[in-house]
Amino acid sequence: MTFTLPIVKKMQIHNLDLGLGIDAAVIQEDVLQGLPFQVQTMKQVHGSDIMIFEDYHEDEIGHDAIICNKPGVTLMVKTADCIPLVFAGRGIVAVVHAGWRSLTQDIIPKTLEKMIEMGCTAEGMRVGIGPSLGFECSEFSDPLIEIPEKFHWAIHGRKVDLNSIALKQLADLGIKNENISHMNICTKCDEGWFSFRRNGCKQRFGTIITALAD
Ligand SMILES: [Zn+2]
Repeated sequence: MTFTLPIVKKMQIHNLDLGLGIDAAVIQEDVLQGLPFQVQTMKQVHGSDIMIFEDYHEDEIGHDAIICNKPGVTLMVKTADCIPLVFAGRGIVAVVHAGWRSLTQDIIPKTLEKMIEMGCTAEGMRVGIGPSLGFECSEFSDPLIEIPEKFHWAIHGRKVDLNSIALKQLADLGIKNENISHMNICTKCDEGWFSFRRNGCKQRFGTIITALAD
């Protein structure tokens, strides 16, 4: 099993190094304009429902994660502050859209548990985390009300450490730290990335993963 991505010229592609060569990537372009290759996307609704890929189709129901065990299929999550994640293990890949609402509805553990049910192991799981809103920029109106109580340990004043919630959920599920590739870029601070918080932009960048058969 190897992972790769389509080679696209003229796009700024940041390899999310999952230790398997070029396998997943973050595309620093407005992906809402379309891409020159087929991708499965989601109608992202800030919930915790997971799509199991069958055939390429327009998502009319709304999902915040896609799991796929078919080789050659490219999955994509679109973000501009929310946390984009990709998972890879034993012929199965997934993308996750973890804005704070999905994150606190346990989209990460739900996706990983489903992948394990489908045959993956936590020990062998590779995880890539793209750019998202950093802690210093994560001010909420009233986090003690907006964030469920079990995550209150991550609240500091009006800021919420969303990346730490994601990393703790991964650790709690047995994902090894050395198998996590985290870009550690704040979308609001780094003007190279689209950020809704910075300027209310409508553009989104893409984080993709493709599984290829051996
Ligand atoms: Zn920032």
